Amino acid sequence: MSFKLSSNFKKPLTLLMMGGPGVGKGTFSRLLSKDFGLPELSSGNELRRITQTGEGKFVEEIKKIKNSGKLVGDDLIFEIISKRLDHPEFEKGVILDGYPRTVNQIKQFLAVRSIDMSIKIELNENILIKKITGRRECEKCGRNYNLFSFKDNGYDMDPLLPKVEGKCDDCYGCLMQRSDDNEHIIKERLDVYNRLTLPMELYFKKINIPILKFEPKRGVKDYEKFREYVLQNISAI
Ligand code: AMP
Repeated sequence: MSFKLSSNFKKPLTLLMMGGPGVGKGTFSRLLSKDFGLPELSSGNELRRITQTGEGKFVEEIKKIKNSGKLVGDDLIFEIISKRLDHPEFEKGVILDGYPRTVNQIKQFLAVRSIDMSIKIELNENILIKKITGRRECEKCGRNYNLFSFKDNGYDMDPLLPKVEGKCDDCYGCLMQRSDDNEHIIKERLDVYNRLTLPMELYFKKINIPILKFEPKRGVKDYEKFREYVLQNISAI
């Protein structure tokens, strides 16, 4: 059952999805966004859109950094996301996916907006590496699929396949493997995540932003459980 959370809440609600590369942030954000009637904004998708359309001064720089697994500059990503958030579609709130992702980015962001709650999706690092190499992404709308399945040690993940092979269920765009989803770059992205993104948790604790943690051991089959967990905690803020 879905309902429009955005109309139930008195003030604009900002939720932040956190978690390592390939953990399922994009998939869970997309489902929550549909259920809650809150638009999502993914920094990775925004950067991909810029490199695909070739618009803007920083296209080559962004391509190079993304393909190295490192992060683009804080000021640049702040400018890109702030501009997008000024659109009227985000008046009722937003689910942020992948931004802010360093302590410095949070400080920059919190100087102009607030974050009501962060939601961290967790999975074992070995699973992440396998899962990320099986990821396929729609080149048009960014929806994710996965060829990977894993059933062991309490994990029960099915592959997330499209209805028609190689085509997105939503927009019929072609499914591609991301250029940064290979084992070499993934190790760098995990290292960046551990060094620069994980410290955000301590910072959130310090400034009293609640962090929910969820481990989707059954992949997308755990979505209902996840949704209920988020809902319960949102009503407490
Ligand atoms: P994602 O789709 O979230 O995995 O992001 C893909 C790539 O885009 C990352 O590896 C970074 O190079 C870049 N990127 C995405 N979000 C940010 C951010 N908040 N700050 C800096 N770089 C980012």
